[in-house]
Amino acid sequence: MEFKKSGRLTRVGYEIRGPMLEHADALETAGNPVMRLNTGDPAMFGLRAADNVLQDVIAHLPESQGYSAPQGIVPARLSVADYYARRGVPDVTADDVYLGNGVSELICMATQALLDDGDEVLIPAPDFPLWTAATTLASGKAVHYLCDEESDWYPDLADMTAKVTDRTRAVVLINPNNPTGAVYPRDVLEAVLDLARRHHLIVFADEIYDRIVYDDALHHCAAAIAPDVLCLTFSGLSKAYRLAGLRSGWLAISGPKQHAKDYLAGLSLLAAVRLCPNVPAQHAIRIALDADHSIDDLVLPAGRLAEQRDLAWELLNAIPGVSCVKPKGALYAFPRLEPTVYPVEDDGQLAFDLLREEKVLVVRGTGFNWPRPDHFRLLTLPGADDLTTAITRIGHFLGRYHK
Ligand code: PLP
Repeated sequence: MEFKKSGRLTRVGYEIRGPMLEHADALETAGNPVMRLNTGDPAMFGLRAADNVLQDVIAHLPESQGYSAPQGIVPARLSVADYYARRGVPDVTADDVYLGNGVSELICMATQALLDDGDEVLIPAPDFPLWTAATTLASGKAVHYLCDEESDWYPDLADMTAKVTDRTRAVVLINPNNPTGAVYPRDVLEAVLDLARRHHLIVFADEIYDRIVYDDALHHCAAAIAPDVLCLTFSGLSKAYRLAGLRSGWLAISGPKQHAKDYLAGLSLLAAVRLCPNVPAQHAIRIALDADHSIDDLVLPAGRLAEQRDLAWELLNAIPGVSCVKPKGALYAFPRLEPTVYPVEDDGQLAFDLLREEKVLVVRGTGFNWPRPDHFRLLTLPGADDLTTAITRIGHFLGRYHK
């Protein structure tokens, strides 16, 4: 008798940590080191958290033995509220902040609390695929709006508008974007927020990379631009604070909360059902945000992350038939394989062959709900030498592939 997984899972995928990992593990077990350019975890690439954040977590361990309040400890929630006040988002109090075991848990809670069967969420294509997975798990329907590579990967507003129906409940904005690295200018955000305003949509603003921006790019909080729109802003300690292992994130609610009492009661119910987030990790939020442990030194022009971003972008564009829009933020590049040069039918096979032949692990573009098999994503987190080796190997592989 075979035990089968729930039918709900047949449409759920998460390729960033998907089946390719097993192949990579098997290669390593057989003595072949793999360059893993798949998971955006700064700590894995030598970017360490600030020592006083870690010390503070340790110092609070003795008082972290019991559960906290379901929404999280008050000092951390106050620090999140202060952070958004500094970023120009009005009226966020500690009551409007929910802490979670990473943004991931909060994405699942926010979608589950909102959606009835068949309710629709507008999600970018390409996306950070948890948004699609969480929407599907919550029995909603992920409706993907296109982002336009020709326009720096900004949302295609016409496509988004055409996809609004009477079942649409929310729109997801990932800014800075994973996987494209786009950082949206104010007018682009205003247009999306206006659409949300006109159609009474909730805005889910995933801003986990809000402090990882390069060059002259400026990050605008969507919630600051449209204080009259119900907005849930998500962020956490995994990226800019290099603490993905702590699993510590938050969401902040802004806008007309008086019209969302029922939804917020649903969110509170789910916060209670999961008891509370990891308590020691909650303590890290206050010191990380209040002491301003910034990543600025890494993203400034001569900083490590900015230099790696430049290097990856240059090396990728130097491969014949490959083009890559310059990422303005986040930790990834999302290059395009010109279909006349690389007539790829199955980008999963492409990624698999790359892994097998060159021991480089990337994530296929369709894993980000991109509709065509002509992209892949790699990290810009490895140091310059590793990045050069990895992209050189990708170039060699593609040189053989297009024959
Ligand atoms: N949102 C985006 C856009 C991400 O890229 C990630 C992680 O890669 C997350 C959310 C999840 O982050 P966390 O580690 O806080 O769960």
